[in-house]
Amino acid sequence: MTNFTREMYKDLNVSDEVYNFCNNIQKNLKERFYHIDEVAEYNQLKVLASMRKNKVSDIHFAATTGYGYNDLGRDTLESVYASVFNAEAALVRPQLISGTHALNIALSGNLRPGDEILSPVGKPYDTLEEVIGIRPTKGSLKEYGITYRQVDMLVDGSIDYEGIKKAIHEKTKLITIQRSKGYDTRPTLSVKQIGEIITFVKSIKNDVITMVDNCYGEFVEIIEPTDVGADMIVGSLIKNPGGGLAPIGGYIVGKEIYIENAANRLTAPGLGKEIGATLGLNQQFYQGLFMSPQIVSGALKGAIFAANIFEELGYEVIPNGVESRHDIIQAINIGSPEGVIAFCQGIQAAAPVDSYVTPEPWDMPGYDSKVIMAAGTFVQGSSIELSADAPIKPPYTVFFQGGLSWHHAKFGIMTALQRMIDNKTISLQ
Ligand SMILES: *Cc1c(COP(=O)(O)O)cnc(C)c1O
Repeated sequence: MTNFTREMYKDLNVSDEVYNFCNNIQKNLKERFYHIDEVAEYNQLKVLASMRKNKVSDIHFAATTGYGYNDLGRDTLESVYASVFNAEAALVRPQLISGTHALNIALSGNLRPGDEILSPVGKPYDTLEEVIGIRPTKGSLKEYGITYRQVDMLVDGSIDYEGIKKAIHEKTKLITIQRSKGYDTRPTLSVKQIGEIITFVKSIKNDVITMVDNCYGEFVEIIEPTDVGADMIVGSLIKNPGGGLAPIGGYIVGKEIYIENAANRLTAPGLGKEIGATLGLNQQFYQGLFMSPQIVSGALKGAIFAANIFEELGYEVIPNGVESRHDIIQAINIGSPEGVIAFCQGIQAAAPVDSYVTPEPWDMPGYDSKVIMAAGTFVQGSSIELSADAPIKPPYTVFFQGGLSWHHAKFGIMTALQRMIDNKTISLQ
C-alpha cells in the first residue's frame, strides 16, 4: 500500500526525499491528531443533536423564491444554528454576502449615533477598518456618529485589563472581540480567554453588548464564545461552518434582541427575519454544517503538520508546532520573496481547481506591497478550502489555511515544500 501511495506522490512530482521527511514528521503527530479527532467527534455529535432536536427533514431543502415568506428550511436552519451555538436566535442567510458583511450588519443594526465601540484586543481585521471608519470610508459607522476605541494587547500577548477598564465609559455600547489573529501575528484567543474578557467587561458595565468575530474559529474547540457569555457571534459560511459546501453566506447568532436588530438592518425595519428567499441553497447549508466538524479537523491537521515540518527546517512558525490551537490559520516566516512565491505556487499546483495556473505577486488594491495568493477553490475565495497568501514584504510571511480533507492539505503542503526545494530556497540536507 505504502508503495502505491509513494509512487502516486512521485507521479505528482513529490520526491522520495520529501515523502520520507514529511511522513517522519507525521509519525510524531499521532497523539495530537488523536486529540483533534476527539474534538471533531464531540462537535459532530453536537451538530447532529441540534439537527435531531429541530427535526430537520427533506422538506427543509425546498427552494423558496421572491419574498421568501414562510421559508421553513431557512427558519429551521436558524434554529439549528442557535442550538449548535447554545444561543437564543440566529440569522443565517445567503443574503449575508461575506464575513465582513455579516459583521457590518451586526454592528450597524445594534449601534445608534453617539454609541462607542471598543476593541479590547487591538486592531480588528483589515476590512473592518473601513466598516468602522478607522480608515475614512463612505458609509462607515463613523459617518453615522459612532465612535471607536481600541486597547492593544500587551507586548507579551496578554490582555491589558487595566487599559480596558480605563477605556470603558458611559457611551461604550458594544465590545468587539476578534477570536482569530487573522492575518496578524498576535496570538489567537482561546474561547476561555474570550470568556474572561467578557466577564471582566460585564463586571464594569453590565449592559455592554459583547460581540465576537468568530471567523476561522468554529469547531476548533468544543465550546464557542456563546458558551462563555458572548451576546453575539458572527462568521462566514465560506469558512468553517459552511463545511466547504455552502457557496455563499454568513451568520449572526446570539440573543434574540440583537439578532432582531441585525435582521431589521439586513432587510428593512419591520420586515426583519420574515423575508429572504433561500433559492434552493438550504440543503448545502445544512449539509455543510453537518460536515464542518470533520472538515475543520482536517484543516487543523494540515496546519499542525506544516508547523512541524517548517519548524523542523528552522523557520519561525505561528502558532508553533506544539501550541494549542484556537483557529485554523498557520503563518510561516519564510524569509525570502522567492520562498513565499514557491510556497504559494506549490499550494496552487496541488489544488483540485485551476492547478495549471501559476499565481504571481500583484498590486492588490488596499495593500502597501504586492501580494501573492493561491486559491484553487470550488467556491470563489473560500478559505475553508486549501488556500495561501503572502504580502511580498519582510519578514516574508505566508498565511495559509483550510483543506477540505486532511489528505489534500497534506499533499498541498508537501507540494509547496517540493517547490521550495526545486527553486533552491530550502534544502532537506
Ligand atoms: C475572513 C475574516 C473576516 C471577513 O470575512 P470575509 O468573508 O472575507 O469578508 C473578518 N474577520 C476575520 C477574523 C476573518 O478571518
